[in-house]
This record gives sequence, C-alpha cells and structure tokens, in this order.
Amino acid sequence: MKKTVRIKDLAALARFAEGYAKTLRPDDIVGLVGDLGAGKTTFVQHLAKVLGVKRPVRSPTFILLQALPTSRAVAKRTGINELCHIDAYRLKNEDELFAIGFEEYAERDDSVILIEWADRLPSVQWLDHYREIRFDFDGEGERVLTLNGERFKSG
Ligand code: ADP
Ligand code: MG
Repeated sequence: MKKTVRIKDLAALARFAEGYAKTLRPDDIVGLVGDLGAGKTTFVQHLAKVLGVKRPVRSPTFILLQALPTSRAVAKRTGINELCHIDAYRLKNEDELFAIGFEEYAERDDSVILIEWADRLPSVQWLDHYREIRFDFDGEGERVLTLNGERFKSG
C-alpha cells in the first residue's frame, strides 16, 4: 500500500515534515528519492528543525554523511539521539556507503538515517526498517510525495 500527499509550497512541506517526524522511530532508515530540486534536502532541513537539531543541515553532496544530534528534550521523548543525513548522488557503488560508516548507523537503534538518492543503493531498500518518500513534480509547479515503507509493505 502507498500513500500520496500533495505539497503545494514550502509551507506545506514544513507542515508535512512536522507530521512525519511524529511517525519516526529511532531505528528508521528513510530513503528520499526524486530528481534534483525535488525537495529532498529541504525536507531533511524541516525534519531536523522539528527534532531540535541545532547544526545547519547542508546539502551533503560533497560530504556524503552528516551526523546531526537532536535536542536533549527530543532525544528523551523519542529515543532519537541523532539524524544521520546521507547523499548517495556521488557514491560510485554500495561499498562506498559502508566505507563512510553507514553500517555503524544502521545497527544503532537511537539514530534515524535519511538517505537522498536511496534508489542508487538497492540493498539498502531491503533493510528491515526501510521506508521511503518519493518526490515527484506534478507538472504544474506542485510536488506529490509518495510514502512507502515497512508499515505499508503488505500490498
Ligand atoms: P533536492 O535535495 O531534492 O535536490 P532541494 O531540497 O535542494 O532539492 O530543493 C531545491 C529547491 O527547491 C530549493 O530552493 C527549495 O527551497 C525548493 N523547494 C523544495 N521543495 C519545495 C516545495 N514543496 N515548494 C516550493 N519550493 C520547494
Ligand atoms: Mg539534495
């Protein structure tokens, strides 16, 4: 089963991120899939804000992996101590993902992993706690997000 959400502007994306944050569990791996400019990094920025991340969330294209501690209050309430933001755009293969420490984060149950361009990492999509947001343009300036994940996997 899939769920789609129409996002008409940046404010709508911020509201969506607020709701989505409430559904996150501390061992989630979230794939963010969509073309350049579709809003993947912006979504991570909103999510980080909701979870009390103080550090600026930059497009991780050149740093590949960025660890972002959440606020103490959020960590206490949700069990999520850290967001791990990965951009797979420049990864040549999945081995590079493991070389930058992905496994260490994937094994932890106190960090949410957010992966831009997760569609380039086929084996990641089969991990247990994988869920996905697909970002599409609707052709008229709005975005349509499609949610898919372990909580919907039966269909
Ligand atoms: P990606 O990481 O998918 O390449 P970004 O998050 O960097 O895309 O977004 C690219 C640009 O699009 C940014 O200037 C951002 O402000 C804008 N943007 C993202 N989502 C929306 C949206 N829902 N409505 C309007 N503009 C958006
Ligand atoms: Mg990006």
